[in-house]
Amino acid sequence: MTAPSRTAIIAGNWKMHYGPKQATSFAQEIIPGIGELVRHFPRIVSVLCPPSISLPAVYDVLQAEPFQRVELGAQNMFYEDKGAFTGEISPSMVRELCSYVILGHSERRMHFCETDELVNKKVQAALTHDLQPIVCVGESLEQHEAGQTETLIRSQVQGSLGNLPEKSVHQVVIAYEPIWAIGTGKSATAEDAEKVIHLIRELFGNMYGSEMGNACRILYGGSVTSANITEFVRVPDIDGALVGGASIKPDFVEIVRKTIEYMQQQ
Ligand code: PEP
Repeated sequence: MTAPSRTAIIAGNWKMHYGPKQATSFAQEIIPGIGELVRHFPRIVSVLCPPSISLPAVYDVLQAEPFQRVELGAQNMFYEDKGAFTGEISPSMVRELCSYVILGHSERRMHFCETDELVNKKVQAALTHDLQPIVCVGESLEQHEAGQTETLIRSQVQGSLGNLPEKSVHQVVIAYEPIWAIGTGKSATAEDAEKVIHLIRELFGNMYGSEMGNACRILYGGSVTSANITEFVRVPDIDGALVGGASIKPDFVEIVRKTIEYMQQQ
């Protein structure tokens, strides 16, 4: 599990689930439980990432019971601050409600043609606006089977995370999400995730110095549930999880609980 100097993160990507009404009731269901858990354990943060239309609804629930370290995150944003960009939301709009933003999720790369170059612009914009980006990288099944994982990860990390301002690079969170493990119920083994995450830490260290490589929070994502979270958080280089499917169920609270239980034993 995460080195003592790094705060663990359990983030929930709700994807395109729960409009404002459902988001309110689900948030009311899970936030008190998460809040109670993290309240007693300062080394963890939980980030809820509903669809953008539901951010104000979840924000209101969080305001009603302002628990520390239960944070709000967006699932995407554009890099420009305002203007004629129909359908987009800007970093400053996101910052009004959120402290985190997921960027470069494989579903955005796949369905909306997001490139490393675009993701990089978004990461720069997030940092400029004091948002912590959770930047996703990960290989497809074909790339995995063809032994191209390392090459792909190298180019995604260098392409998405290059040229960041030194003063805010410590805000970057990276999520290693092998595409073949997302929503399939077939997670990577902890050993495989460890290898890739170790590589990501090394690459980030080469780009921004070994201290930054050590300080960067790196999460695993791909079919994480309360049944397997402990396997991942046991790995020293893994600082938590980005959770999709299980984050829209009460199981998300259990994932937070299991993570804390493991950390408390250390
Ligand atoms: C995700 O979408 O980021 C994700 C990891 O999904 P799942 O947990 O459902 O595999």
